[in-house]
Amino acid sequence: HDDHIDREVNSVCPFCGVGCQLTFKVRDDKILYADGRNGPANEERLCIKGRFGFDYIHNPERLTVPLIRKEGVAKEDVATLDPANPYTHFREASWEEALDFAASGLRKVRDEKGGGALAGFGSAKGSNEEAYLFQKLVRIGFGTNNVDHCTRLCHASSVAALLETVGSGAVSAPFNEAENADVIMVIGSNPTINHPVAATFFKNAAKKGAKLIIIDPRGQSLSRHAKYMLQEKPGTDVALLNSMMHVIVKEDLTDKDYIKNHTENFEELKVHLEEFSPEAMEPVTGISPDLIREVAREFAKAKAAIIFWGMGISQHVHGTDNSRCLISLALMTGQVGRPGTGLHPLRGQNNVQGASDVALIPMFLPDYQSVEDPAIREKFERFWGAELDPKKGLTVVEITEAVHRGEINAMYIMGENPAMSDPNVSHARQALAMLDHLVVQDLFVTETAAYADVILPASAWPEKDGTVTNTNRQVQIGRAAVPLPGDARQDLWIIQEIARRLGLDWHYDHPKDVFAEMTQTMDSIKGISWERLEAADSVIYPCESPEDPGQPLIFTEDFPTANGLGKFVPASLISPDEIPDKNFPIVLTTGRLLEHWHTGSMTRRASVLDAVEPEPIVHMPPAMMEQLDAAPGDLVTIRSRRGEIDIRVRVDGAVQNGMIFIPFCYAEAAVNLLTNDALDPFGKIAEVKFCAVNVERK
Ligand code: SF4
Repeated sequence: HDDHIDREVNSVCPFCGVGCQLTFKVRDDKILYADGRNGPANEERLCIKGRFGFDYIHNPERLTVPLIRKEGVAKEDVATLDPANPYTHFREASWEEALDFAASGLRKVRDEKGGGALAGFGSAKGSNEEAYLFQKLVRIGFGTNNVDHCTRLCHASSVAALLETVGSGAVSAPFNEAENADVIMVIGSNPTINHPVAATFFKNAAKKGAKLIIIDPRGQSLSRHAKYMLQEKPGTDVALLNSMMHVIVKEDLTDKDYIKNHTENFEELKVHLEEFSPEAMEPVTGISPDLIREVAREFAKAKAAIIFWGMGISQHVHGTDNSRCLISLALMTGQVGRPGTGLHPLRGQNNVQGASDVALIPMFLPDYQSVEDPAIREKFERFWGAELDPKKGLTVVEITEAVHRGEINAMYIMGENPAMSDPNVSHARQALAMLDHLVVQDLFVTETAAYADVILPASAWPEKDGTVTNTNRQVQIGRAAVPLPGDARQDLWIIQEIARRLGLDWHYDHPKDVFAEMTQTMDSIKGISWERLEAADSVIYPCESPEDPGQPLIFTEDFPTANGLGKFVPASLISPDEIPDKNFPIVLTTGRLLEHWHTGSMTRRASVLDAVEPEPIVHMPPAMMEQLDAAPGDLVTIRSRRGEIDIRVRVDGAVQNGMIFIPFCYAEAAVNLLTNDALDPFGKIAEVKFCAVNVERK
C-alpha cells in the first residue's frame, strides 16, 4: 500500500499504558493505517486498537468550533442532546467569545468565593506537557490544589501503598523483565484484554518455561499459558495473599538476608500472619489450602519472580491493603531489585504515569513532592512566581461530593468524562448539572460536555507533538501526523489562553518549552531533553544526566525511603462495602473490552472497533443464564441500589457463578449508574470492581 501514502510519521499509540511505538501512514491528511515500530515496549507489535483505532479523529461528530450553551436550555436536559447535532442545546461562538466566557465564569467564582470553590480535571490521554501546564494553571491561576484525573479511578491505591512502603509509586521494573523471570504472577489483571502487547511478553516467557500464576475472580484467556489459575471469590485478595505469606513464613521460605538488610517491621507482619492459615482462609477465598501452599512455594523458591497487577487489585475499598500485601510478598522473598523480579502495577491509560508524575493530582507537586511541605512549596513558589495553596486538594470523587455540598461551584474539565467514568454516575451527573460554570475541552460532545456552559474543541493525539510516559517509566515522543480539523486548537494553546485571562502571562510556544521547565522541577527526568527524545524516541527514567541511559531496574541497592528500607505494612480483612443480600444477590464487576477504550468517546467512534463490539453486553455465567431462562442476546434489566440499566446477555464461562461482568464503555447502558462510590480510605479510589445487583429478564 505504501505507494498510496503521502507521508509516514513516527509516534506512540494513544490508548493503553503499554506505550507501543507506531508509524502513522497518512494520505490526504488522513490516517490510513498504522504500523508497529521497534519501540522498547512493543518490538513492532500492536493490538487491534493500535492498528485500527484512529478514524475517530476524522469522525463527523468531531467538534470543530467552540460552542456556548443557549440561553434557557437547562443542564439537566441532557437526554434530548444528540452529540451529532449539538445545536439544539448549544450555539457556535468565536474563540475570543468562548475563551472570554470560559475564563470570566472561572474568574468570577475565584474572586467571589476563593480558589477552593474551583476544581480542574485534566486527562491521562493528553501529553505530559498539557498535564503539567493544566495543573500549574489550577494551582496558581485558580489558587487551589483541587486538581485530579482518572488515576483516582485507576492505580491511586497502588501508588498510596508503594509510596508508603518503598518510597516510589512507579513500577520497579519494566514488564519486559518477565523474560528474565522464572515465575510471573498476574493478579487482578486481564492483560490480554487490557495490555495486549504486554501480554505477548508474558505468553512468550511462559512458552520458554517461566511459570505463570494467574489470580483473578474472572477467568481469562492468558490462563491457557498458566501453570496455576486461582479463580478466587471476588474481593478476597487480602485473605489469599496473607495465606500465601503465612505459608512462606511457616515453611521458612523467606529471604532472611534480604529482610535483615533491606526492610523493617517484619516481626509485626509475622505475628499478624499467624491467623491466616490457608485452612482458615479457604472459606473466604474458595481456594484449596493445597493449591495455596503450592503457589506460595513456587513464588518463594523462584530464582526470580515478578508481580503484575491491575484494577482488580486497586479498585476496592481495600485496594491499598491489596497492594500492601503484594509488596510484602515481594519483600519477604527478596523478589525485587534484581533482573526478572519486581513490582509492576500495569498502568491503564497511555499517560496515566506521566500525568501523575507531573502532578495532575491534588496532594503532590511534580515528582511526588508534597504540597504540604513548606520547603517544597517555597521552592515551587519561587520557581513559578506565585503563591501556592498549602492544603492538599480534593480528589475526583471528593470533588463531586464538594459540588453537592455547594463548596465547589465551577470546574474546568480537559479530556475527562466523569459523566461516564465516575462511580455512582447519577450522583456525578447531578453534580455537573449543579455547577454554576463548567468549561469542557474535548474532541466530541461527550456525556460530560453535555453539561457544559462552554465547550472548547481540542486536539487529538495524532494532531499534536508531545511526550507521554508509559507503564514502564519510558518517556516517549509523539509527533503530529495530521492537521487539526476546522477551528479546533492545540490544548496547550487553549490552556494558555485561559491562563492569560486569569492573569498569567505565559508564552510557551512549543511543547518543548514546557518540557524544558518540567525537567527543571523533576529530578527523575533531569537527564532527558526534548532533543534527546527526538533522537531516541524513548528514554526511561530515573535519568539523572544526559549521559545516563536511564534506569530500567530500581531498588537495586536500597529504597527511596527516609532510612533506605522497605517497610512491611500488615493488612487485615475488610469486606467489600456492599455485600450481596436477598434483594441484590449478585456481584457486579466492571472493566474494559479489548476493542474499546474506557468511556468509549474515541473507540465507539472508530469504525472498525465499534463494528467488532457494537452494543452493550453483560457477561453472564451459564448457570445464571439457565436460572433466568435467558438465551444469548436476550435483554435483561440490572438494578443496584443506585440505578438500573437494560442490556443484552452474553454467555461467558469465565465468569464465576454469582457474578456478572459489564464493560464501562457504553453510554446506552452506562454501568457506572450501578457501581458503588465507597472509597478506599488511603488512595481514595472507588470500589467499582464490586457491588451488589439483581438481574431480571425483560
Ligand atoms: Fe496501543 Fe496498548 Fe494496543 Fe499497544 S497494546 S497498540 S499501546 S492499545
